[in-house]
Formats: sequence, C-alpha cells, structure tokens
Amino acid sequence: MSTLGASNKKKIAILGASGSIGTQALDVYEKHKDKLELVALSVHTSVNALLTAAHKYKVKHLLVSDETLKDDPRLDSLPSDVSLYFGRSALSELGSLSGADIVLNALVGSVGLQTSYETLKNNKVLALANKESLVVGGELLMPLVQERAQLMPVDSEHSAIFQCFEGESRADLYKIWLTASGGPFFGKSLAELENVSVRDALSHPNWSMGKKISIDSATLMNKGLEVIEAKHLFDVDFDQIEVLIQRQSAIHSMVEFVDGSIKAHLGATDMRIPIQYAFSYPNRWDSPLERISFADIARMDFYYPDVDTFKCLSLALEAGKTGKSAPCMLNAANEVAVKHFLEGTIGFNDIYRTVEHMLEQHTLTKLTNIDDLCELDYECKQKTEEYIVTTFR
Ligand code: MG
Repeated sequence: MSTLGASNKKKIAILGASGSIGTQALDVYEKHKDKLELVALSVHTSVNALLTAAHKYKVKHLLVSDETLKDDPRLDSLPSDVSLYFGRSALSELGSLSGADIVLNALVGSVGLQTSYETLKNNKVLALANKESLVVGGELLMPLVQERAQLMPVDSEHSAIFQCFEGESRADLYKIWLTASGGPFFGKSLAELENVSVRDALSHPNWSMGKKISIDSATLMNKGLEVIEAKHLFDVDFDQIEVLIQRQSAIHSMVEFVDGSIKAHLGATDMRIPIQYAFSYPNRWDSPLERISFADIARMDFYYPDVDTFKCLSLALEAGKTGKSAPCMLNAANEVAVKHFLEGTIGFNDIYRTVEHMLEQHTLTKLTNIDDLCELDYECKQKTEEYIVTTFR
C-alpha cells in the first residue's frame, strides 16, 4: 500500500502520447498509479491510440492537435465529462487546462517549442523529451525556469548529467562527458554512407526510439542537438562539453569535477528510467525493468567522434556556438531533410548537405520573443522545403 493519499498524487499530462516516449510514459504511469494521476493526453492524429488510453485510464482532458480531425466520428464515443480540445494553441495550454503538475513534452520537432514555453511560463514542471524546443529556443526558455527541478530532462544523457550534479556545486564542474553510442554507422566513411537505406539508418544498435530521433542518431545530429540542449540545461560553455562514443551505451553520460573525480551514470538502455525519474524526483521508485548485467557488457569501448564523416555533428556544434537564430535554422533544415530522407526523396548524405547549405545562406537574427521565433522556425522550414524540392529532383 502506498503511503500517499489520492490528493497527494502528482498530476501528469502526457503530450505526444502515441509516440515512443509517450507510450513508455504510459507504461511508467501504469506501474505507479498509486503515486501518479493521469490528467491529460494529447496525440497529433492517432485518434485510436488516444481513445484506447483515455478509456483505459479514464482521462478527463484529451487533445488532438490536428484540427482537421475535429468532426471525426470516433470521438463521439467519449463520455460527456471529458473535455476535448483541438489544435496547437490549446496544446500549449493543456497543462493549465487540465491542472497538471508535470507536463511531459514528448512531441517531435520544434512544434514542441510553444508548449515548452507556456508550460514553464505557467509554473508547471516541464519533463522535456522534446529536445528541439530547447535547441531552438533555449535562450528564451531558460530564463523562465525558476528552480533546477522545474525542467526535468527526459533524454537519457541529460537525465544522467542531472543526476550526476545532484549534491554538487556547479562551480566545481570541470567538464561534461556527453556519451553517444555512435549509431548504426559507426566506423563507416563518408563515401560508404552515400547509399545507405532508410532501413539501415533506422536500425539503432542499443536504443528503441521513434523514427526522427533514430535518423538523427545515425547522422549524429542527435548528439549535436544534445550538446546544445546540455549547454542550455546546465548553463555551461560549449568547451565544457565533450562528446565521447561509448559503444555499449552502458554509460549514459559523465560529469568531471575540478578535483579530477568523474561521476558516471549507468543503467539499462530503457527510456522508462529517465521518464520515471522526471516523475519521481526527488525520490526514486522501484522499477521492474531489466537490470544492467556487467558480465554481459564485459567491456566498454570509448572513441572520439569522427566529425569528418558525421558532418551533422560539427554543423550542430558550429551553429550552437554561433547562437542567435543559427540553431533554429540548423534544426529546421534537419527536420525537413530527415522527413525527405524517410520519404525517399533524398539520400542520407543529402541531410548534412541540406543543413550545411541552409546555414550558409541564413542571415542571423537575434531571438526576441517566442512568437517571432515560431514564425522564424516556420520560415526556415519553408525555405528548406523549397531548397530540397528544387535541388534534389
Ligand atoms: Mg539522448
């Protein structure tokens, strides 16, 4: 029996409930119903997944962000005490509308930006799986964070770093070692990557993830985005973050302190651990997940990343250091290029070529407010779309 009464449960909202992180979050909720109350769910178009979860867990606030589904007859089956919302602006307010304490932003891409912004502005805890919103809008989001635990990273590396920082003074930081698996194309040359298939790129060796992040992991763009994410989350300089390949993904990241001590976070490669930590903090809850077996790992291999082959990583680092609107352009170009790669319109190396070209032609602007940034993000995506359509057909 839990010692928590019903009123002490943490109220959670899961945005992007049908995706990889969303469904794993539902799994965490299922196991910890005595400590969590699920107050809201959102999907983009997956109405069936929304209805299944809503009926199963009796969720009172539901949202479909694709407004064209407004008259979908499947939604008629909902009980009358359920509040149903549509569209992106309601999505960014769903945390407030549902009275959630914690909003898990598991949306894919920079569409999550406005939601992250409103969640922080409304003093909710933001459990952030949508790294793109921090990459694009970190300069506008971070000033809204009142205390460290208001922004809980749901990215395995950043959750690891967050945990390594527990009980430490930020002034004692020497370096963050941001670990990477290296992805499915580790050890390959740029020429060898020219003709890889979507299927090859989607087959990540260690983690089970959504399509967009799987491609980002194959190009190492994901690691570049994560460097920018870490820079904002932990308020460090870029030269205090070093990417390190750890092939087995047993180490989820490390923090080195001024005295030479290094704290590493290890665990199974299962996203339900960082998701649960974002909900349980400052406590830890038990977990039925598979434990790490050191005998199975047997060895750990470390390498520095090959930035000549994985050009997306160097492009991201450069854009991060440039700051202002450069990360917005980088992310927008990448999102559109990845979409085209998945659709078969462009090749794998065309992803970095597109991002490189779009950054070269981009005119830097200062980020002033969230509406302008969302508009800029939209424009950057439109321009990339035009570039790809005219260049690669
Ligand atoms: Mg990660």
